Amino acid sequence: MDGLIIIVSGFSGAGKGSIMKNLLEKHPEDYALSISATSRKPRPGEKHGTDYFFIDRANFEEMIKKNQLLEYAEYVGNYYGTPRRYVEDKLNMGKNVILEIEMQGAMKIKHNMPETKVISVFVSTLDAVTLYGRLVGRGTETAEVIKKRMDRALEESSGVEDYDYLLVNDDLDETTELLHQIIMNERNGKPELNNEERVASNMDFINDMKFKLLSFSKGELQ
Ligand code: 5GP
Repeated sequence: MDGLIIIVSGFSGAGKGSIMKNLLEKHPEDYALSISATSRKPRPGEKHGTDYFFIDRANFEEMIKKNQLLEYAEYVGNYYGTPRRYVEDKLNMGKNVILEIEMQGAMKIKHNMPETKVISVFVSTLDAVTLYGRLVGRGTETAEVIKKRMDRALEESSGVEDYDYLLVNDDLDETTELLHQIIMNERNGKPELNNEERVASNMDFINDMKFKLLSFSKGELQ
């Protein structure tokens, strides 16, 4: 059986990267993680070919032209895209392929992969203040970039409704296991076992987050 595509999006700083790392460590046989190409510069410690394929804008545009990307988007001034070949190979091998990508690209995947079962998950922190704290605590971004990422979080909070599931990342191990369960239940045709995690069941939380992010961007919560 071909694998599923699992799109994982979420606010910058919500802990998607840590969840992915944890999921692959705990269940290496079930998953393959797609490595994106980006025109962003590496952060300290990031490696070419492990975290991203770091390429310049001209090379990125070449990949677009040659149709080598399943999707791509611009995010806070840089290109990000999913190389097609790796995803198609792993799906054919029966692996579930995880794409950790932002919202515009996420919406293109369902359209570009009509033959493949795609499920989408949005990851949030418990609240907006925690989100800001994690971005600052990471210590890798300037105040200006943090502000842009918080503004982008506000924009993205309006698109959460288009996702299938919401995961609130309070405890890393719990969130990771819940994500694994959701994927296995989807693969086994029993998605109703995770109705509580459906976006539709969490609209109060999402609306509250939107309101808080709006207050944040007006400078009321800092
Ligand atoms: P960061 O700069 O923090 O590594 O990533 C910024 C945003 O780009 C995150 O929301 C991340 O999920 C998203 N992203 C990473 N790779 C891709 C990709 O291949 N395509 C799209 N559309 N977004 C991506």
